Amino acid sequence: MPAMKSHARVVVVGGGVVGCSVLYHLTKMGWKDVVLCERKELTAGSSWHAAGGFHALNSDPNISRLQAYTIKLYREIEKLSGQNIGLHFTGGLNIAATRERWDFLRADWARHRVLGLSTELLGPAQIRKLCPIIDTSDVIGAIYDPMEGHLDPSGATHAFAKAARSAGAEIYRHTRVIEILPTGHGSWHIVTDAGTLEAEHVVNAAGLWAREVGQMVGVQLPIVAMEHHYLLTEDLPELQQLPGEIPLVLDLDGEIYLRQERKGILLGVYEKEATPWALNGTPWEYGENELLPPSLDRLTDALDKGFRRFPTLSAAGIRRVVNGPFTFTPDGNPLVGPVPGVRNYWAACGVMAGFAQAGGVGLALSHWMTQGEPDSDIYAMDVARFGAHASRNYTIAKGSEFYARRFQIAYPNEFWRAGRPAKTPATYPTLKAANGVFGVSFGTEVPLYFATDGELSEETPSLRRSNAFASVAEECRVARNGVGILDISSFGKYLIGGPRAEQALERLLAGRIPGLGKIRLTPMLSHSGRLMGDLTTMRLESDRFLLGGSGYLQTWHMRWFSHHLAAEGVTVKNVSEEYGGVAIFGPQSRELLARLSQANVSNEAFPFLTVLQRDLGFAPALTARLSVTGELGYEIYTPTPYMHALLGSVIQAAEELDARHVGFYALNALRLEKSFGIWSREFSPDYTPRMAGLDRFIAYDRPNFIGREAAIRDRETAPKRRLVTLAVSSTDADAAGYEPIVLRGDLVGFVTSGGYAHSVRTSLAMAYVNAEVSDTEQELSVTILGEPCSCRILTEPSIDASGSRMKS
Ligand SMILES: Cc1cc2nc3c(=O)[nH]c(=O)nc-3n(C[C@H](O)[C@H](O)[C@H](O)COP(=O)(O)OP(=O)(O)OC[C@H]3O[C@@H](n4cnc5c(N)ncnc54)[C@H](O)[C@@H]3O)c2cc1C
Repeated sequence: MPAMKSHARVVVVGGGVVGCSVLYHLTKMGWKDVVLCERKELTAGSSWHAAGGFHALNSDPNISRLQAYTIKLYREIEKLSGQNIGLHFTGGLNIAATRERWDFLRADWARHRVLGLSTELLGPAQIRKLCPIIDTSDVIGAIYDPMEGHLDPSGATHAFAKAARSAGAEIYRHTRVIEILPTGHGSWHIVTDAGTLEAEHVVNAAGLWAREVGQMVGVQLPIVAMEHHYLLTEDLPELQQLPGEIPLVLDLDGEIYLRQERKGILLGVYEKEATPWALNGTPWEYGENELLPPSLDRLTDALDKGFRRFPTLSAAGIRRVVNGPFTFTPDGNPLVGPVPGVRNYWAACGVMAGFAQAGGVGLALSHWMTQGEPDSDIYAMDVARFGAHASRNYTIAKGSEFYARRFQIAYPNEFWRAGRPAKTPATYPTLKAANGVFGVSFGTEVPLYFATDGELSEETPSLRRSNAFASVAEECRVARNGVGILDISSFGKYLIGGPRAEQALERLLAGRIPGLGKIRLTPMLSHSGRLMGDLTTMRLESDRFLLGGSGYLQTWHMRWFSHHLAAEGVTVKNVSEEYGGVAIFGPQSRELLARLSQANVSNEAFPFLTVLQRDLGFAPALTARLSVTGELGYEIYTPTPYMHALLGSVIQAAEELDARHVGFYALNALRLEKSFGIWSREFSPDYTPRMAGLDRFIAYDRPNFIGREAAIRDRETAPKRRLVTLAVSSTDADAAGYEPIVLRGDLVGFVTSGGYAHSVRTSLAMAYVNAEVSDTEQELSVTILGEPCSCRILTEPSIDASGSRMKS
């Protein structure tokens, strides 16, 4: 082992598969002065006892891409390192034994075409041919992915390590990081039991101990470890006779996965009751070839299902039972990126499927560290996707739920129960009493729709249109003909002030800065010119601005603001929870506002995209004239203690009007009818302003905003893809996202979002399509739940193409 350096550019803490992949990728991207500290031997956490299975399929398309990258990388690191990693590309089967699951798999299979994954749908006979030990009597079909398989976890970890070492990295084994202390000049003292070194950057890749390594810098990472079992059987005669290996099998309607291990079987179990482990901290002495005592009683139900699916296993001798812990986050995805509030401290932890994800995590993080930003939209695994709500108890509740539901269908309209309600808007009792059905965003309950039948009903999780349909239709009708009332307290709100605020915003935002009392839509760009935000900027005073954005991006936006707005003479404050809000929209919304404000709110007195600061009832209110519904409409903000009273005044003033509570489902339908894009769907760091049609909001002539040079290049280059809206002929299901769009058999684009447009009684989808087809009048096809549906590109929004309603 090399003697410890006194200084390094990066110290990676943890020599599991993730830490070693980060180390390798840093060297690959040109940072050679990098070291890794491992408390014991490499793989001494979860990595050594993993089942070694890998697969590219994931419910988040961007994570799927990174998983596919991980898998492709194995051959490369095997070659580079000379380390055998025991790669077995056996292919993998995801089995469906219910109609609903089959719909789900067929929808996934269609999306794989967009992601560049070549998967196939197989029937029972084809499944049995690949896997003769499976009972397919109740099986409808399976997705087959030829890129799935398994490997030797220790070999893969060492291969990353060797490849990194040969590119200049150093690895210190038996070197436990004990403290991480700021030096006072922007770097860190890494205190280990083998000496201290100074580093510019620290990466927390400490796996089972990532919480503890977070606490060393005062950070509570939302991670919980869970116990997990797999069994290894004696050799099976059926497998001895086979020339090759059977594929990896996920029995999604059971709770098991299985693969061949030599001539026996490895059977893993995701039982319905999760068992969180080491809740008060992972013991430092745990590890290096240590396992937990098995507890087969907990697995009885899952094993019964497994034995029914693979009857031969019930008679097989069990050679070994493994029970090991590994980490989960509240949504099951990793924590990657710069940890908010701690300079040069990076997360690469919470990785639940290390052998499918470590390569992608290493790539994304290293790109971010060396180039200043990740090379694609990795929000789904960004450490900044959580807020203060992701407390210890919340993490345990959600992590356990994720484990238990690991293979269950994730319905697009289902908001899982654990950890709820945690945060509620001040108006929650009123909205509940109005039959509000709630979902959750960033830990806060948000109204989805208001049940029309007078009784508080729950929405049935469904891949097709749900029982919320009639209520949402009525909400859309009212919003287009009367006045809709929606609690928007969950929106993100940031106050930027100070004598240099305008100057700072001119650098931060790519859009024009509004004049006093005015509002503008202001895109925000990364240094490489990709979208970082679709913010609304309101100028309240000459040196005071309110920025509005998607509520779930609060930590993400604040991290960007604190990096790029930190300057003398500028204050930045996240006031999202200090202010609540109610939106009113529809042709009668002006009448409603006039009653509330007892002021002249005519179009001349209170024009589109301006702000009115005037009390409404007892509430000190800031009313902004805009609406994402595309109707005449207003967003009214007030300090949270006044929200209940404000909503009460709104409801009272709405008497005798055609008024109704409206939820976020209707808002989504209304904005689709206007072809308005939203964040994470049409807008994200995967897209540029020109592609997304946001170039009309960019102030190209203003010097020095972040991303300007790239934005100018983007403006001058014809985009390969354009954002369009499609009218879709479908009967009972709408596009949800990433469905392929096909012209005469060729893939020409993919859906970003979809839904039923009640006002025009048609299914709509927004989509990025190849530029050359973006104005075609030809019929295209979009695959929804596995079924091709014809669609055509709309030349203008379905409702009020001229925008006269919202400007009236
Ligand atoms: C039973 C079981 C089966 C599994 N099967 C699969 C599978 O089939 N496929 C799959 O993809 N995943 C599987 N996993 C999950 C997989 O094991 C993990 O996702 C992966 O190992 C996580 O790797 P890591 O590097 O993040 O963490 P770890 O492997 O836990 O590594 C962290 C490392 O950091 C070191 N460390 C911690 N603190 C310090 C410190 N202060 N100083 C120095 N070093 C420190 C530790 O010693 C350890 O070596 C399985 C897990 C279990 C338990």
